[in-house]
This record gives sequence, C-alpha cells and structure tokens, in this order.
Amino acid sequence: MLEPVHAEPGTVVIVGAGVAGLAAAQHLTRAGVRTLVLEAASGVGGRMSTEKVDGFRVDRIGPLLSTSYPELRRTPGLDGLALRPFSPGVLVHSEGRRHRAGEPVGPRRARGALSAARALASAPRPARGVRPPLGGPLDHARLGAALARIAATPPARLLARPELPISRALSERGLPSRTLHGFIRPLLSALLCDPDLTTSSRCAELALHAYAKGRLAVPEGGADALPELLASGLPPGTVHTGVRVTAVAANHVTTAEHGELPCSGVVLATDALAAAALLPGLRVPGFHPVTVVHHAAPEPPLAEAALLLDADRLGPVAHTSVISQVDPSRAPAGRALISSTVLGPPPGDRELRAQLAALYGTSTCRWETLAVHHDAHAVPAMPAPHDPRRPVRLLDGLYVCGDHRDTSTVQGALHSGRRAARAVLTDLGVPAAASPASGEEETPVHEAA
Ligand SMILES: Cc1cc2nc3c(=O)[nH]c(=O)nc-3n(C[C@H](O)[C@H](O)[C@H](O)COP(=O)(O)OP(=O)(O)OC[C@H]3O[C@@H](n4cnc5c(N)ncnc54)[C@H](O)[C@@H]3O)c2cc1C
Repeated sequence: MLEPVHAEPGTVVIVGAGVAGLAAAQHLTRAGVRTLVLEAASGVGGRMSTEKVDGFRVDRIGPLLSTSYPELRRTPGLDGLALRPFSPGVLVHSEGRRHRAGEPVGPRRARGALSAARALASAPRPARGVRPPLGGPLDHARLGAALARIAATPPARLLARPELPISRALSERGLPSRTLHGFIRPLLSALLCDPDLTTSSRCAELALHAYAKGRLAVPEGGADALPELLASGLPPGTVHTGVRVTAVAANHVTTAEHGELPCSGVVLATDALAAAALLPGLRVPGFHPVTVVHHAAPEPPLAEAALLLDADRLGPVAHTSVISQVDPSRAPAGRALISSTVLGPPPGDRELRAQLAALYGTSTCRWETLAVHHDAHAVPAMPAPHDPRRPVRLLDGLYVCGDHRDTSTVQGALHSGRRAARAVLTDLGVPAAASPASGEEETPVHEAA
C-alpha cells in the first residue's frame, strides 16, 4: 500500500534523494523550512548505493572521496560519517613493478621536499642511458614539492587560472615524463573517471588540490553510508521513496503515484538526464562511462590498504584495491573483497583477470566475480570551458542542483545542494544569519539561469 504524501503550504519539494537532494534537505530543514524529498527508487543515495552480495557490501560506484572535501564538514548531518582512509599516496604499477608515489606532505615537509628537489636537480646527472629507478628520491622530492604547492593554492586561485584540456596543459608544463606518465596521468584519470584527460585543467587541478590536501577514503560500510546518514537525520516523514515525479513547476509537482502536490518551491535534484527530461532546455552534458567489478578472494592479494593505479595500461582496469583492507566491514571474516574500476564498458573476463593477476602479482583463478556494475552515464564530463558554479536558481520557486551543476564529484553534488538551499532561503526571505546554508562560500553563486 502507498504511504500517503502531503505537501502542506510552505513546503519545499526536493525531487531526488541522491546526496545533492539530501544535502539541500538538510540545509533547508535546519533553517526551519518544511521539506519533502521524493525519490523514484526504492532507496536513497542515487549513484551512491551499495548492495549486499553473499555477505559482501559492494558499491555500484567506486567512490574515491578525499578527507579534505570541505562539504563533508559543512553539510549538516554528516558529523557522524566514518571514513576509512587508503594508505597515504598511491601504489603505481609502472614498468612492470609497483612503487609508492604521491604521499601528500604538510607545509613543513613540503619545504624540505622543495629544497631536496632543488639540491637533487643541481646534482650531477646520471650517465647517459642510466635511468634512476622509478619512485627514486628525485621523483619523490619533485612530486612532494608539486603536491605541496597545489595543496597550498586556494581553490579560488585555481579556478582563475587559464583553462585548457588538462592533457594539453600537462604537456605544456614540461614535467618529467616519469612523473607525468608514471603518476599524474593515471592519478587524474582515476580521480576524474576520464581516461583521455579531456577535463578542464581548472577542474583537474581542483581534484589534485583535494587529493594533496587530504587522504583518499571511502565511507565505512559502503558508499550508501553517506546518503543514509543524511536521510536519517531529517525529520520523520521527510523522505518518500518509490515516488516518481513526472512534471515540475514553481508551485507544484506531479507524481506518478500521488498525482499533483502543491508546494511553495521545487528543487530538482536528479541526475542530468532526468533533470533535462523534466525541464527541457536544461543543458545535457557528455558523460564518462564507468564499470566497477567486484571479486571475492580467499585471501587478500595485497596486505596494504592501497589504491593501485595501472600506469602501464596493461588492460581495461584503471585502478583497483583490496577494499576489505581499507574497510574490513565490507567482507565477511576470512575473505577479501577486490574492487576494480574500468573507465569504459564491461571488459571480457579473461582480459580482466589477466590484468589483475599482473597488477597484484598473483593468480586470480580462485577469485569469484561477485558483481559487475556498468553505468554509461556515471560521471558528467567537464571539458574546458567548464563552469563549476552553474546557476541553481532558475526562477523564484524553481531550483536545480546535482553534480552536473558543479563538479562531477560527491563534493560537487553536496556543494550544489547547499547553493540551491541558499537560493531557496533567499527567495523565502529566511534571514541569512539564521541559515546554516549561508556559511562560507569560496566563489560567488550565480543568481540567474
Ligand atoms: C561508477 C561511478 C564512479 C564514481 N566515482 C566517483 C569518485 O571516485 N569520487 C566522487 O567524488 N564521485 C564519484 N562519482 C560521482 C558521484 O557518485 C556523483 O557525483 C554523486 O553521487 C551525484 O549525486 P547527485 O545527488 O547529484 O545525483 P544522483 O546520485 O544521480 O541522485 C539523483 C537521484 O534522483 C532520483 N531521480 C531521478 N529522476 C527522478 C524522478 N523523476 N523522480 C524522483 N526521483 C528521481 C534518482 O533515482 C537518484 O536517486 C562516481 C559515480 C559513478 C556512477
């Protein structure tokens, strides 16, 4: 039987219970505005969902969060979020072996790294044909210094820099080939889900900034822990699942299950394609397709909680990890969960196993495939020029948020929800000081579509 849904006068309806919609609901309810969140699926979370398979908790996505994402601190309701960090830096499989690279460094160690890099740069060059090993002290010092510099650069300055496709910007910077191909390119591909690095250099630098300032991490228990936490902190009766919105206007929504619901404002918080179907004329971005493959193994093929990048491009997998080493709650006792991300369509099983065997240096014959999740519209593309603060207020009473209005990340989705909530509060005349959504803003918010 259908749960009754009422939208009393004064209610703001939010369409979609992904992290953007739930963040908007959190900001609005904390400011005293009654909200109703309508979600078409049977559960909350949108792309950040997790399913249980044979006692394993497997994500539909491979979400790499950074502990430095500001919205993880600014979004009300997320105080209790437990993040499980990867070990510092990443493991890169390059020229046939694994090496650690890119440990973010603090300001003091950065100064040390910089002077070490300078000293090494002025040291006599090795004899012709003798290449220092990958991951040698010179590479580490240079990388440490570069990462420290980007961590110290405020996002507003990164967003003011000239904008090019990041692959072009990188090739013009004269970076040593080992650093470029052995670390920067595979890392950025993983962070942006963009194998060809067509992303705007500004957005790519924002991603590197987040990486360098914090640690890569996943929510404990699965990606869905984050939206579940946001939803559970809302007043009872706020979130309704299994309700598909079929039309929106500034003063009502129409649903397939409950007909028309009058309201005082609508925040459209769906993915980009659903948003454009409900409001034709909204921009539809291009997308990066992603496939995530989960394997169960009798024992972990790697003892570390590391993110392993394939710089050698041995096969379709861009990055992989023994996710149960990062977050043991995702696998039953005595078994290991390996999650691997392919930036494209689902690969053939033989090709996939051969690559994973080479990356981990072990046989994958006894690994069991638990789940293969493919999403052709996983991540909105952000080619240059990209506006990471796309307008969220379409007109008085009608707003739109989601990762496609910001950057295509969990940080971007949460931030867009906060911007939309702030625009609603401004139109409703809720004093800015009373609203948690009126907190610090790193760049100005557009007011018109
Ligand atoms: C495979 C994959 C890997 C990713 N990797 C990363 C990563 O490493 N790091 C990172 O930060 N981000 C990553 N992302 C992106 C991140 O998951 C998204 O940016 C974020 O979850 C988007 O949240 P959202 O609320 O904007 O949209 P969504 O999560 O898409 O939520 C929209 C909601 O609207 C609902 N809806 C749609 N139409 C209707 C309707 N008509 N009526 C009612 N409800 C409706 C949908 O069911 C959905 O629940 C990845 C995404 C994928 C798919």
